[in-house]
Amino acid sequence: MAISDENKQLEKLDRGYIWHPFTQMKEWLDEKPIIISEGRDCFIRDIYGKWYLDGVSSLWVNILGHRKKEIDEAINRQLERIAHSTLLGLSNVPAIRLAERLVQTVQKSLTSPPHPPLGKGGLRGGIDSGSRTPNSKLTKVFYSDNGSTAVEVALKMAFQYWRHKGIDGRNAFVSLENAYHGDTIGAVSVGGIDIFHEAFRPLLFKTYKAPSPHCYRCELGKKYPGCKFACLDKMAKLLKTHSKKIAALIIEPLIQAAGGMITSPPGYLKGVRELCTRYDILMIADEVATGFGRTGRMFACEHEDVVPDIMCLSKGITGGYMPLAATIATDDIYNAFLGQFKDLKTFFHGHSYTGNPLACAAALACLDLFEKEEVLKSLKKKTEILESWLGEIRDLQHVGDVRNAGMMAGVELVRNKKTKKPYDWSEKMGWRVAYHAREKGVFIRPLGNVIVIMPPLSIREENLERLLNVVRSSIVAVTKKTIRANIA
Ligand code: PMP
Repeated sequence: MAISDENKQLEKLDRGYIWHPFTQMKEWLDEKPIIISEGRDCFIRDIYGKWYLDGVSSLWVNILGHRKKEIDEAINRQLERIAHSTLLGLSNVPAIRLAERLVQTVQKSLTSPPHPPLGKGGLRGGIDSGSRTPNSKLTKVFYSDNGSTAVEVALKMAFQYWRHKGIDGRNAFVSLENAYHGDTIGAVSVGGIDIFHEAFRPLLFKTYKAPSPHCYRCELGKKYPGCKFACLDKMAKLLKTHSKKIAALIIEPLIQAAGGMITSPPGYLKGVRELCTRYDILMIADEVATGFGRTGRMFACEHEDVVPDIMCLSKGITGGYMPLAATIATDDIYNAFLGQFKDLKTFFHGHSYTGNPLACAAALACLDLFEKEEVLKSLKKKTEILESWLGEIRDLQHVGDVRNAGMMAGVELVRNKKTKKPYDWSEKMGWRVAYHAREKGVFIRPLGNVIVIMPPLSIREENLERLLNVVRSSIVAVTKKTIRANIA
């Protein structure tokens, strides 16, 4: 196909001026960039007119498809009033409406009674209710712009909470191996993916690392369910030993997404909540990736009747339209920040675009559509299709493990199925599969050797099947090629 002058110019300008995130720019400069100019439903179109199925929801954000009429209209309506005004010292109409709506939505989802202990006697005996009232409701919305800032806000809130309570020394956080909570320095400090985070180690603050609930590659060398949650036992010891130094524990509920779509076994999340309550440690649920239906429920915590003390939301909050995040805290936390002006208990945090009216209008329209289109109900059949496909491809020679939480799925490729020996990271196996799928009109982005499947929730069944067929044939084609290359 002849390339128009305008398209040639766009390619040149991209190479000349954009530094792409999480991208080795030397490689990027050698490749032909895919430049997107349009989207519709679950498809995106490049400047040359080729359509791709958006297999990763434009980086896990798109929920209801591109160019969704109702969201387009909501943004346009808001645009006729005002695009932006600050929440520092002012309020705005969509931010108020959305805050109420988010609290209602979270409470409806997490209508959990106090958490009963796991099994007969709980993890290790009963629960001591600490100095806080556990499981008070999430009622206060603090806006920011993206998942990382939602996490920064949560960490700073948790840290200051204890100070305002008059309790010193709670300066550390607990996070999990394989965790990913964003790219700002605070969020990286609670991250646990060496390849992304290790380079910044000298800049990071202290965190205690609990084991990842990664049953396929258990770092404790155990097997589920025979392990009886040995990872939680280890976490319990850590919390018991250091509880007086810990402000909060942060966790991606149900699935460690960027760590490789690592799903935790049933009961694990509830166990974590129980431990936080027992040792009087705030629990931060980072639902940035899992929120808004991705796991089959509105929020992942709902699956295990868990109510965190702080919840971080972003990505799907606007249906994938605009940058927006919300950190939602309990009354207990909010109340600790109340005082006289001179007390300096104010939460000194806020971004220029905090509570942006256009983004809040998009989010309200998205929540309306969740109800109107019964999005959660529609996921049952699609999740069945996805799970049945995962069950089939599990048998492929180079598929080591398949994992999913609702419509978030990962397929881990291995060099040797029996020994679980991974492909070397530098072989870029995941990427090779992704490039192959791209040729066939499906856009996916892997995490190392893990192929990620996370289409918009609104994807029609026939498109989901097409996506899965292309991914399967790409895995087969690429892994076969490497078998041949290994023999040769
Ligand atoms: N938390 C989780 C669980 C995430 O998956 C991500 C992004 N993938 C983030 C936080 C950071 O979000 P953002 O990229 O919007 O800063």
